[in-house]
Amino acid sequence: MQIACIRIVISMSSLIKVLSGRKKESLVWTYFEEQLNLRKSKCLVADEKGKVCGHLVAGKNATNLKSHLEKHHSEVFKKMTENEHERRTSVKRKLDEPGERLMSMS
Ligand SMILES: [Zn+2]
Repeated sequence: MQIACIRIVISMSSLIKVLSGRKKESLVWTYFEEQLNLRKSKCLVADEKGKVCGHLVAGKNATNLKSHLEKHHSEVFKKMTENEHERRTSVKRKLDEPGERLMSMS
């Protein structure tokens, strides 16, 4: 039974690894919507009155999108940077755990 459990843990952690390597994984996509036909990305950040920015950034380069957030929505940018950092640390923790457990069992 124990061996089966360990196997599940390993496949779970490799799944997390695959997911975190995805291109669109960047948190910046929480604030942008890809406009495929225009080859642009639309800013979806709303101000306190609920008005959506709607600014179109050329392409879908996460760095360009981030720089729009940094310039025009500094509060959102700050929040996103903090979240991204937090998430990275928590993903790393999840990946480290099964390995350690496996080592102590063998
Ligand atoms: Zn904007």
